[in-house]
Amino acid sequence: MGAKGRFQWIPAAVAWLTSCQMPPEPSPKGYAVPEIAPVVPVVEKAEEPKARPDIPEILKVDSQSVTSLTIESQARVIGAIAKRVEDDRWEISKGDRVLLLKEESRSAELNGTVLFLNEAFVERQGTLRLGELDYEYTLKPAMDPLALRLGSRKVVIDPGHGGVETGTRNEALGIFEKDLNLDVAIRVRELLEEVGVNVAMTRYDDRVIALDERLKIANRAKPALFASIHFNSAPNLEAEGIETYVLTPPIAVSSNDSLSSLKQGRLSGNGFDYANFEIGYLFQRKLVVDLQRVDRGLKRARFKVLTELPCPGILVECGFLSNGKEALLVNTPVFRQRLAKSLADAIIDLLPDE
Ligand SMILES: [Zn+2]
Repeated sequence: MGAKGRFQWIPAAVAWLTSCQMPPEPSPKGYAVPEIAPVVPVVEKAEEPKARPDIPEILKVDSQSVTSLTIESQARVIGAIAKRVEDDRWEISKGDRVLLLKEESRSAELNGTVLFLNEAFVERQGTLRLGELDYEYTLKPAMDPLALRLGSRKVVIDPGHGGVETGTRNEALGIFEKDLNLDVAIRVRELLEEVGVNVAMTRYDDRVIALDERLKIANRAKPALFASIHFNSAPNLEAEGIETYVLTPPIAVSSNDSLSSLKQGRLSGNGFDYANFEIGYLFQRKLVVDLQRVDRGLKRARFKVLTELPCPGILVECGFLSNGKEALLVNTPVFRQRLAKSLADAIIDLLPDE
């Protein structure tokens, strides 16, 4: 399929989609989205926000060298090649990686998997190029992927919500997100334990576990990966598909926010930004391919449960309970087993040799 066919642009008109915990769909051009209460991560150990956020050392260096470069030159710096493939579409390639960009848009695709830029790909001071944060946190990890292997065979699986915190629900089917999350998590754990993976869970039954406590469990367990399992909902009942979230890099804008929204400095989980990108991409790609669901993309958010992890972390939104057809599907044990198998296989692919 040609480059055009591989893009699935999410129209701005569906801007009001929300996940089970989160704000609206990214507006591809970065224009204003309907106002809702911003999710403000409360992180005890994080540094106090400063009037001007700290810029990571690596950015101070790179921003000097990339701010005036064209997209072709930005690609060349990291050994990639950028070329215009249509009027407003660009292809950046290196080895077996191809990143497709569209001018004026935050939406992009890496080897066919959707992801979102910090800022729209536009002319800056007369030069068409990526912003510094996208150069650092998307272009570089996309073109120069880590040869990823987790540090150990221990993982923490986090079934979202629980107890009176039901998460989203489908009234017609009488199903609650918290129950589906736990069901899938238990299936993932069983599949992983069969191959000798050491699995801890943040909850094993239907109870409230505060987000702080989930982080404490993860930090005590010292896993090599943290995976949080959720299901989605949106006011647009047509919305369907899978999303994978990783922590937003320092200062960057979360995928569902507009540029004017709160930006935050470095959180301890940001120590894994480079690995998070690759792991998030691999999970999103695998889930969409294995389950043949709509690809809603690799996204970034400062979900509390991802902020203070001692390891790379992802949060997967495995389908929309607000979509009647998708809810019917996820309500079947057969689908949930396929989902769990895909998640477990994604983790197994990352394990170090025994
Ligand atoms: Zn949820």
